[in-house]
Amino acid sequence: MILEIVEYGHPALRAKGRKIETIDHDLLQLISDMLETMYEADGVGLAAQQVGRPLQLCVIDVEGIKDRPSNMWVDGKKVDLEDCMPMVLINPELELIGKPKAGVEGCLSFPGIRADIDRPPRVKVKAIDAEGQPLSFEADGLLARAVQHEYDHLQGVLFIDRMSDKDRRALDSEIENLRTDI
Ligand code: ZN
Repeated sequence: MILEIVEYGHPALRAKGRKIETIDHDLLQLISDMLETMYEADGVGLAAQQVGRPLQLCVIDVEGIKDRPSNMWVDGKKVDLEDCMPMVLINPELELIGKPKAGVEGCLSFPGIRADIDRPPRVKVKAIDAEGQPLSFEADGLLARAVQHEYDHLQGVLFIDRMSDKDRRALDSEIENLRTDI
C-alpha cells in the first residue's frame, strides 16, 4: 500500500524514533509499504518519520543511480550492491569516517528543494535487518550519504538543519511554503 509522505511542518519529522523491540506482522507490513512508497516517489531512501511513524526504521535503495556510484564492504570485503538492495535498517548506529565533503541532496518531505550538504564520505553501519538479523557494513558514495540522511531523520534531524546559512536563507521562502498547518 502506498503511504502518504508527510512534508515539512508535520510534527513526526521532528520526533526522535522509538527503538524497535520486536519485528511483528505490523512492522513487516510497514516495511513493505515504505518500500512501495519509496519506489513510487522515486526516492533512494525513506524514514519511518516520513510516513508519520517515529520509529528507528528506514529503507534505502541506491541501486541503479549510475551517475552517483556507491561501494559497500562487509567484513572488509567488497560486496555487490545489487545483492544488498533494498536495504532495511532497524535501530541503526553509525560511525562516520573522513573529512566532510559537499554533495547534493533532496528529501521526499521537501519536494523540489535541493542543496549541497557536507557529510563524511564513508560510514560504518550496525543495524538489524527485516529478518531480525544483525547487519554490519561499510559504505561510501551515495549509499554513505543516504544512510546519514536517513539516520538523521530517525533522530528528528532534517537536511535543512545541515545546509549552509547562505543556502538556508536563499531557500527560506520555498521551505516555509511547504509548511502545512496540522
Ligand atoms: Zn529526507
